[in-house]
Amino acid sequence: MCLQDDCIFCKILEKKIPSTPVYEDNLVYAFNDINPKAAIHVLIIPKKHIQNVTELSHNDPQTLLHIIDVAQQIADKEFHGSYRLIFNTGKEVGQSVFHVHAHVLTGEYLSE
Ligand code: AMP
Ligand code: ZN
Repeated sequence: MCLQDDCIFCKILEKKIPSTPVYEDNLVYAFNDINPKAAIHVLIIPKKHIQNVTELSHNDPQTLLHIIDVAQQIADKEFHGSYRLIFNTGKEVGQSVFHVHAHVLTGEYLSE
């Protein structure tokens, strides 16, 4: 793992901050969002500290593709395979944690 001291999601990976696990493998960790915006709201993060999805796509595209597969697996289990995937990128659009994370929203019908 490549971790950063002042990053809340790195602390979650190190188990210094508790989280509710949903999925884990050697590349990613998925856990419940503390402030859910849907019946199921899971965050999927790479085990490497990378700032945002653009950096991830350039530096580690395989992990980005893997995140999409994990999101699909969660949705297959929870809601007929349907899910919404969000990567906030930049503080102006609401990114508050600068360790890339996919928001997976599922588990209920969502408006457009
Ligand atoms: P973003 O605004 O896209 O950077 O998303 C950050 C997300 O992290 C928000 O949806 C928060 O609710 C979530 N979050 C922050 N701290 C925690 C935590 N300790 N455990 C789980 N989710 C968290
Ligand atoms: Zn981090």
